[in-house]
Amino acid sequence: MNIELVTIGTELLLGFTIDTNAAHISRALASVGVRVVRRTTVGDGEAEIRSSVSDALERTGFVITTGGLGPTRDDITKKVLAEIFGLPLDLDEQYLEALRRRFEGMGRGPMPPSNRCQAEMPRGATVLNNQWGTAPGLWLEGKPGIAILLPGVPHEMKMLLEYEVIPRIEGRGKREEGRAKLIRSLTLRTTGIGESALAEKVGEVEERIAPVTLAYLPSVEGVDLRLTAWGADAEGAAQVLERAAGELRPAIAPYWYGDDESDLAAVLLDELRREGRKLAVAESCTGGMLGERITAVPGSSAVFVGGVIAYSDDAKAAELGVAEPLIREHGSVSEPVVQAMVEGVTRKFGVAAGIAITGIAGPDGGTAEKPVGTVWLAAVDGDQIRTVGRRFFGGRQEVRARSVQAGLDLLRRLGAS
Ligand code: AMP
Ligand code: MG
Repeated sequence: MNIELVTIGTELLLGFTIDTNAAHISRALASVGVRVVRRTTVGDGEAEIRSSVSDALERTGFVITTGGLGPTRDDITKKVLAEIFGLPLDLDEQYLEALRRRFEGMGRGPMPPSNRCQAEMPRGATVLNNQWGTAPGLWLEGKPGIAILLPGVPHEMKMLLEYEVIPRIEGRGKREEGRAKLIRSLTLRTTGIGESALAEKVGEVEERIAPVTLAYLPSVEGVDLRLTAWGADAEGAAQVLERAAGELRPAIAPYWYGDDESDLAAVLLDELRREGRKLAVAESCTGGMLGERITAVPGSSAVFVGGVIAYSDDAKAAELGVAEPLIREHGSVSEPVVQAMVEGVTRKFGVAAGIAITGIAGPDGGTAEKPVGTVWLAAVDGDQIRTVGRRFFGGRQEVRARSVQAGLDLLRRLGAS
């Protein structure tokens, strides 16, 4: 089953609002075997809505729209779609009454007259009850095809999609049994390797796992490898995916830290908990971001004891016991200093595991020898210690976020070695 999306709203075109609706609908439909084959975004103008929806119906016969169902003058989706389907708008007295009660229930006085138009429904349309807002969704079916109209507000859209739209689509899918193919995805999360180097590691495995397809999704946390499979049923698709993932994992082993929603900090904390180790951190350029990532994980208190933000040279010396001659001789962004930081923080907190980070996040402070993005990292795990110097690209926040991820990964890999 194929479908097109038309997201409606001038704010989307202006870039003030990011079109999260389109991404959410695509993912949600894929999981029930419906393929979004094209997405269009248009402003709140009558002509643009009319032509984009008509074109989509002509091409694909099945359209979901979001936005433009509100009570204000720019909300004209329902009117335009009713015209495309040749349906007059009738006032739904029952709906109007429910809307009135809803407003009174909210204690904000009587319903404003502008909301009355929300009770007008294209004749014969299926009304998708919106318990989460005032604009109902609509399901129109006629000669032009099928059009599902959903509100723009992301929460309302999601709820209607889950409770009103997907069950109906699944019902149709069952009637057309044999034709629907289910899509399933699995993500292998990697870090510490660039996109093209990772592609080289994957190499010929990609051909062996076909028709499972691979997508490389880079971010500051690393590169996610998304595997997608099509199957006759959910079980079949999941099996195909698991087999492909089983082939891929050995090829990318040291960089792979988990699947799907896995968080590197959570993976590391799990390992430390199993080994019975406690963790402390020493941060310079990341200023607490490492501690933030760690404490964002529920249950981190079982492993994490605390940290020191030692931003200035004096703080590194006073709080972590970094010898001042080391700083003078090598600079605060250097291997000897990061090593002294991690030793200092594990000693201070009396723990077996530690991470230290010192670097130049920019935009100022770089030199020819140590350009912006130069970061030294150190990790301690029991009697093992490892340091690494990296050069990260990007702006200040990006360098800092990449540093945190690299620090977590350094300790994870030290523990695994
Ligand atoms: P509307 O239904 O057009 O009145 O939209 C209501 C609100 O939902 C807008 O102010 C936006 O903030 C938000 N919105 C509309 N369309 C989208 C979209 N495609 N993705 C994310 N948010 C949206
Ligand atoms: Mg709008």
